[in-house]
Amino acid sequence: MVGKYDADRLAHPGLSTAVIEQDRGGGECSYWACIPTKALLRSTAALRAACRLPGAREAVTDALDSTAALRRRDGFVSR
Ligand SMILES: Cc1cc2nc3c(=O)[nH]c(=O)nc-3n(C[C@H](O)[C@H](O)[C@H](O)COP(=O)(O)OP(=O)(O)OC[C@H]3O[C@@H](n4cnc5c(N)ncnc54)[C@H](O)[C@@H]3O)c2cc1C
Repeated sequence: MVGKYDADRLAHPGLSTAVIEQDRGGGECSYWACIPTKALLRSTAALRAACRLPGAREAVTDALDSTAALRRRDGFVSR
């Protein structure tokens, strides 16, 4: 298994490297782990921050739209 952190070590000057990926190029972080996790948590974090801030919290009139938050996450990992 070769991950993106191995790419630098493989790319020595004068050598050619070919990486064959069994799934989507980019690995776990881009499509299943870091990026989708952070994209999903961001909506909650922004809402919580707004709820702590006088002047902004009064504008928060509803709960988190989980469908929209999931759609946002999917948008990050579908490109
Ligand atoms: C929920 C979650 C959240 C995370 N959040 C963060 C974060 O916020 N920050 C952070 O720094 N890290 C985070 N991580 C860890 C991070 O995702 C991994 O450390 C990172 O993806 C490892 O990179 P890698 O390139 O070594 O391996 P991977 O990204 O796993 O890449 C390995 C690749 O090899 C492919 N492969 C495997 N076997 C074969 C085979 N036999 N033939 C061909 N291809 C194969 C796989 O399909 C995969 O694409 C998180 C992990 C999880 C699960």
